[in-house]
Amino acid sequence: MTQDSKNNSHATVLVVMPDETRSYRISRKLVFSLRPLIMGLSLSVVVLTMVLGWLGVSYMQTRSDAQQLSAEVVHLQRATSSLIEAKLDALSSSEQSVAELQDYLTSRGVKATDVDLAPRSVVTAFAGGPVVGLEKPIPYVGEFDEQTRVLLNQAKRIPLGRPHPGKLTSKFGHRNNPFGLRRSEMHGGLDFRGKSGEPVFSTAAGKVIRAGAAGGYGNLVVVQHGYGYETRYAHLSKITVKVGDTLEAGNQVGLLGSTGRSTGPHLHYEVRKNGELKDPQDFLSIA
Ligand SMILES: [Zn+2]
Repeated sequence: MTQDSKNNSHATVLVVMPDETRSYRISRKLVFSLRPLIMGLSLSVVVLTMVLGWLGVSYMQTRSDAQQLSAEVVHLQRATSSLIEAKLDALSSSEQSVAELQDYLTSRGVKATDVDLAPRSVVTAFAGGPVVGLEKPIPYVGEFDEQTRVLLNQAKRIPLGRPHPGKLTSKFGHRNNPFGLRRSEMHGGLDFRGKSGEPVFSTAAGKVIRAGAAGGYGNLVVVQHGYGYETRYAHLSKITVKVGDTLEAGNQVGLLGSTGRSTGPHLHYEVRKNGELKDPQDFLSIA
């Protein structure tokens, strides 16, 4: 500690220690000559302290940034793998829908090409590329799966395939009167030849809206399928469903016969859309 004394040429410096205090007389000139050095040293200490402080703060900041970054990487990894998992699940569900649709069409006698689907291990082993659109997960495959299911439900309600395996004896359209009269007549369906008592099957899923004797049709079953479709099964020897029954494609509606306006045992089969007669042959196969 320095203290000015009354002596002009010297300054008195007091050094305070725990057990004693000493005073030193120092030349003023020396003090003046040392002043810049002391000030310089003090300034250096201040600057050094500031630099060290800044370094410390920035180190802490960097450390916290690094921690945050590593947390984000972990989060991203999890999000990415869960996204891939979700996509694979949706894809496998789509595969299942497509396979179901294919199986259904095949079971209805409609030709379908086999599609070989790679096993899941192969899918993951040969997949890659940058992951984008994290904010919009499963944008495409999910929809594809949904659309395939809609398609499958629609397909199940369209009359497809045969109601009976017998040979066609009469097609749809104008034909000569089978009862020998000269006039030609409009034949509203297909005739399948068979033996009395053979089972007759619904060609699509639907609901029985009529089951009973109906004039020239003989014993008739009418099934409503939705999307405007209706099928009719006529001349049955026996009806095995009742009004209100729900059916799947391939369910039995009755037994083949020759009731009503008929020249022998056969099935008369009609397809109607929005009340209009359609050629059922167009529905035997879509291939
Ligand atoms: Zn007929």
